[in-house]
Amino acid sequence: MHQERQQFLKFLRDRGQRVTAERLALFDEVYAQHQHLDAEALLSAMKEKGLKISRATVYRNLDLLVDCGLVRKQRLGRNRFLYEHVHPGQRHDHLVCRRCGKVAEFVSGGIGALQAEICRAHGFDPTEFSLQISSICRDCRAGRRSC
Ligand SMILES: [Zn+2]
Ligand SMILES: [Zn+2]
Repeated sequence: MHQERQQFLKFLRDRGQRVTAERLALFDEVYAQHQHLDAEALLSAMKEKGLKISRATVYRNLDLLVDCGLVRKQRLGRNRFLYEHVHPGQRHDHLVCRRCGKVAEFVSGGIGALQAEICRAHGFDPTEFSLQISSICRDCRAGRRSC
């Protein structure tokens, strides 16, 4: 995380953006979380810790973290945009339950290699991969979840 923090600081400086306590607090929170969260969940997690941050600041700065390449923003499920921090060079894909919204991650070197091969065949230089499988999770199929 230290390296990522340096990357964020450099990004802010290069863009002429100020390094504020709020920005760093948001960065720390995003890296402390190991789930896929929406902006509201991040906001309430920070408020629970007694951090003073406004909703507008959270939204604006999450976009900044996305631009910086440290945070991935993905539409997981129908109308839900979730954020997660990224570790450069590591990739994973997602399974999303259409009923309860549960998100599961998976890593498949085989899929990665296949995507790279497809890009080569079409003459594309891939900058970002993403694969999402929309499905119904085991709990929902078994009727263990009510929502
Ligand atoms: Zn489910
Ligand atoms: Zn993920």
